[in-house]
Amino acid sequence: MKFKVNEVFHSVQGEGTRAGRPCLFIRLAGCPLRCAYCDTTYAFHDGEMQELEALLAGVSARLGPPLAGPSAPFVELTGGEPLAHPGAPELLASLLDLGYEVALETAGSHDLAPVPREVVKIVDRKTPGSGEGHRWLETNLACLVPGQDELKFVLGDEADYAWASAWCAERRVWDRVEVLFSPAWGRLDPAWLARRIVEDGLPARLQLQLHKVIWGAATRGV
Ligand code: SF4
Repeated sequence: MKFKVNEVFHSVQGEGTRAGRPCLFIRLAGCPLRCAYCDTTYAFHDGEMQELEALLAGVSARLGPPLAGPSAPFVELTGGEPLAHPGAPELLASLLDLGYEVALETAGSHDLAPVPREVVKIVDRKTPGSGEGHRWLETNLACLVPGQDELKFVLGDEADYAWASAWCAERRVWDRVEVLFSPAWGRLDPAWLARRIVEDGLPARLQLQLHKVIWGAATRGV
């Protein structure tokens, strides 16, 4: 089994409740979506084919032996849209078999059912402002594991905020999983978003993209 790999890099997790943790990222190439604010357009096409075994050997060499607990080695499969690769669930299962904590970043446009339950799923529910909100698979909601998985909204403007708040309220999603509201970089003022979350009493967590705060928006491989 082969995968088109755009890049593999070690950094800190920039998003979600695990932000700040050292993490090895595997970025697969290719995405059928075209979000208005996409910051990884370089992953649409560029990449080198790698056999599953070689990819796993590279991960083992970089992360070392598995450990338990909060300092356990952490690996995330991202993209592009990793689930656009039919073999992605098998890759995720193989990473779990190595004994690591494994996360998946996905747009929720592909079926999550084949993804192993133990994989931490960070699901980016696309908003109307992204231009790709219609790609959402509603059945994916049932695949989210309470206390483990996360639902993320990248908000481009005030209309996105209102839409995301209503969408979450209708489904009471914050009773089941962590909900992250993230301002689209350079489009929505984080201070405005923080104020609105507090004023509206939303059980959502403000998320800033830590890697962009540290290294700037244009730096790759961080
Ligand atoms: S799903 Fe992600 S990689 Fe694909 S276009 Fe949207 S932001 Fe870019």
